[in-house]
Amino acid sequence: MPDTVLQISDETKERCEYVKRFMEEYIYPNENVLARGDERAEQLMKELQAINKKNGYWAPHMPKEAGGMGIPFLTYAYMNEIIGRSLVAPRAFGSQAPDSGNAEILWLFGTEEQKERWLKPLVAGEIRSCYSMTEPAVSGADPTNLQTRAVREGDEWVINGRKWFSSGAIGAAFAIVMCMTDPDAPPHKRFSQIIVPTDTPGFKIERIIEVWGEHDANHPQILYDNVRVPVTNLLGPQGEGFRIAQKRLGPGRIHHCMRTLGLAQRAFDLMCQRAVSREAFGGPLADKQTIQNWIADSLVNIQAARLLTMQAAQKIDSGDEARVEISMIKFFVVNVACDVIDKAIQVHGALGVTTDVPLQAMYKSARTLRIADGPDEVHRMVVSRRVIRKYRAGETWDFQTFE
Ligand SMILES: Cc1cc2nc3c(=O)[nH]c(=O)nc-3n(C[C@H](O)[C@H](O)[C@H](O)COP(=O)(O)OP(=O)(O)OC[C@H]3O[C@@H](n4cnc5c(N)ncnc54)[C@H](O)[C@@H]3O)c2cc1C
Repeated sequence: MPDTVLQISDETKERCEYVKRFMEEYIYPNENVLARGDERAEQLMKELQAINKKNGYWAPHMPKEAGGMGIPFLTYAYMNEIIGRSLVAPRAFGSQAPDSGNAEILWLFGTEEQKERWLKPLVAGEIRSCYSMTEPAVSGADPTNLQTRAVREGDEWVINGRKWFSSGAIGAAFAIVMCMTDPDAPPHKRFSQIIVPTDTPGFKIERIIEVWGEHDANHPQILYDNVRVPVTNLLGPQGEGFRIAQKRLGPGRIHHCMRTLGLAQRAFDLMCQRAVSREAFGGPLADKQTIQNWIADSLVNIQAARLLTMQAAQKIDSGDEARVEISMIKFFVVNVACDVIDKAIQVHGALGVTTDVPLQAMYKSARTLRIADGPDEVHRMVVSRRVIRKYRAGETWDFQTFE
């Protein structure tokens, strides 16, 4: 039986059970150690990765031929919600951003040589990567304004520009860089994606950017200063940078949404557990009506967000780009997560803002996603523009017609 939005196949159930067991046995008890990112954390992470590799739970987003699990998109979506319950877990399964999205576009658009050199070690977890698109000088929400230029000189691309928020750039082996290659083409055909090894002369980490006050957040500013790479480092066809980005961002947003849902569900569990165990004013917090309202509202919102996300995943699985559905879930799910985590923090009182519980890190992550990968407002714009287009043409937009 294949998965549908409301029915989960036996195979998916089995895979989700494995992930749940793994999370309970290895991730939750070691979460604080793994989050530190020091030598001990790296050693432990390697051990956890080895367990998943041995058990065939490695790179669930990739096809078998590319070194992954080769499972349907929906199965991965369900698993990813459980993996996403902890911010440190995706790495243990070899499916962390931005490597997962980069691996997907290398698989879809890379040449054999690029796959051999970059994709293989990336999927194997031997190297890391970053995705270098957003720039300090122009609006990232409207990427047609990006300024980084790549000019062809003989057999080389010469790249000049400044990027920031290239997550994971410190320690990455290569960056996939969005560059303007065809300034005279129509706006959506001006850009191309180019692979830049980070040891290329002229690739300079210019500034560490502290995100939420964290010095080692690893979203630095990068100067591309006369960076020269062979023309064979072009990823996909010239001028197709945005189309490739869309291929990356579409499924990538479902991944983000599933992981964010995982955060919401975990916050919900923590909120309810605290509500039944903490007493104030003569009884458990769970007996107070305000808390009961928060529990009921959160449960409904999480399930609505889950169903919308699975519907979008199902549409992608059927070969549709699901542009409207993806934008709908991108802003809806992160706002649900922010709201549920916020309420969970409140129910925990002072404990909620400490590192004794993971809620503060979860909140920062969910709040950031209201901006990263396209701000809420832009996704609302995408949805409403498409809907309005229909009504202008005298048609309607009605999900009841199962479009
Ligand atoms: C932690 C983190 C990690 C990131 N990782 C990466 C990465 O790995 N690679 C990468 O390339 N980028 C990355 N980004 C960048 C991210 O994708 C951009 O921040 C995002 O696209 C928004 O661009 P901007 O910051 O330039 O905001 P701007 O484009 O300047 O927008 C600012 C605000 O303007 C408002 N706005 C914009 N357009 C509209 C509109 N049409 N209607 C109404 N309001 C609007 C929104 O409120 C928006 O938040 C990351 C960002 C963060 C915070």
